[in-house]
Amino acid sequence: MRVRLRNPDREVELRGGRKVRDVLAELGLDPDTVLVIRERELLTREDRVEEDDVLEVRPVISGGSGPMRCRRCREPAVVEVRRHNAAFCRDCFLHHVREQVRRAIDAYDMFGPKDRVLVAVSGGKDSLALWDILLDLGYRASGLYLGLGIGDYSARSAEVVRRFAEERREALEAVGGELVEVDLAREHGFDVPTAGRRGSRSTCAICGLSKRYVFNRAALERGYDVVATGHNLDDEAATLLGNVLRWQTGYIARQAPVLPAREGMVKKVKPLYRLSERETAAYSFLRGIDYVVEECPLVAGNTQLRYKEALNRLEAASPGTKAQFLLGFLERGAALFRAEDDAELRPCEACGQPTTARFCAFCRARAQILGERLGTPADQGEAAGGSSDREVARELAEEVLPVEIYAAEQAAR
Ligand code: AMP
Ligand code: ZN
Repeated sequence: MRVRLRNPDREVELRGGRKVRDVLAELGLDPDTVLVIRERELLTREDRVEEDDVLEVRPVISGGSGPMRCRRCREPAVVEVRRHNAAFCRDCFLHHVREQVRRAIDAYDMFGPKDRVLVAVSGGKDSLALWDILLDLGYRASGLYLGLGIGDYSARSAEVVRRFAEERREALEAVGGELVEVDLAREHGFDVPTAGRRGSRSTCAICGLSKRYVFNRAALERGYDVVATGHNLDDEAATLLGNVLRWQTGYIARQAPVLPAREGMVKKVKPLYRLSERETAAYSFLRGIDYVVEECPLVAGNTQLRYKEALNRLEAASPGTKAQFLLGFLERGAALFRAEDDAELRPCEACGQPTTARFCAFCRARAQILGERLGTPADQGEAAGGSSDREVARELAEEVLPVEIYAAEQAAR
């Protein structure tokens, strides 16, 4: 078949018949940006075209010819955001990202200009972008890096975070910010790989548990008002999907861009929840932020990743699905689950951090990893914890999907 393409004008010959969608895929064209015309009729992507057909593929993007234009200023665009049906030039894209963060902070009253914010920075694109944006917006943002002891991966992450802080020294000084570093092995006697080998929970579960514990303690001890993490739209949508698939109503109730402070728990916020992973990556790239691209070597094949892939397939077919799923939940679904958030907290008898049991999940895990005892011998076992893994997970469930805990529970049944 002969396919006539416009802007610029050219013609392509294709052998054999097939669906319009396959023709477009072969030509690398997005069906949402073109009209496909045969004689005088319009075709949909599901229509079939034959060998002897003559087609015209006509672009429909406003501004029409040549490169895509920035939605704000009409300069040539460098980044497309399909779910907003928009493209932006560099400066307008940076503006768009900051606006999304500003809206998130306002919508949930996350923090104000006087609050001291502790940004948990892993060395990845999201958390470094977040720290960068908050400093840029003039917030009193410090960084917190937790050394997890995962070989070269942790070494490189630490390096990247330190360099970032060094480069932002002036901005940090201007707001009285700092880089706080905590080393898990030095402070608590174990690293993540050791915990994975010795503990009864999976590596990812103990890592998530340690992060939430250390973030909270570090912030309280240093007098920060709020902890901010780099969780983005994709992270939150994947977590929500996982929780919905299992109807984990308690976790669903606690999945929010803001968790208010309560006894012994500092306020936690996720200012990037309105931005996709691709947007935070593009932001970091355009801002020249050197971040760790590789994934943690221990997560291979984790369930959250499969949920992200599933959502990405839906998103490719209908852009905006992911945002509708998450933002619709926050606007209309979340309130319906509030009653499920029933955990009563009291101080851990070993460390004082909040827990639903006598000893907190972190202290119990730590004692097990190090082969130590908590309290008196009579306190061991059920009495010491007094709670199932499910309760442990609920106590600490905030953002990370504790898949491994469900898996352990099911296995025990
Ligand atoms: P993850 O659990 O790896 O998906 O990370 C979620 C968020 O937790 C990141 O966006 C960071 O804000 C924070 N985070 C993860 N790892 C670290 C780390 N080693 N040190 C400090 N913050 C971290
Ligand atoms: Zn404790």
